[in-house]
Amino acid sequence: MHINTPNGGFDLPIPWWGTTLFIAAVIFIVLFIGGKCLARHTYCCPQCGKSFRKKWYHMALSRHIGSDRYLKCPHCGKKDWCSVKDDWR
Ligand SMILES: [Zn+2]
Repeated sequence: MHINTPNGGFDLPIPWWGTTLFIAAVIFIVLFIGGKCLARHTYCCPQCGKSFRKKWYHMALSRHIGSDRYLKCPHCGKKDWCSVKDDWR
């Protein structure tokens, strides 16, 4: 890994996979924390009207528009846009 400085730059003793691993770890931590926050919410299924929660990794990887998320309902098994039931205010 080469770092450019006004004096010409220097090489950091980090191999390419070290940088890749670091970036992957940062992405994972961001998804983990974001997903953990989202997993605290209860979502309401528009198909059967029941509420449910999902694991953080489902939340982190699910599509969303605003606070609505495209989730699979554990009660009826249908995938649809689910809105947040509570907002933790
Ligand atoms: Zn449902």
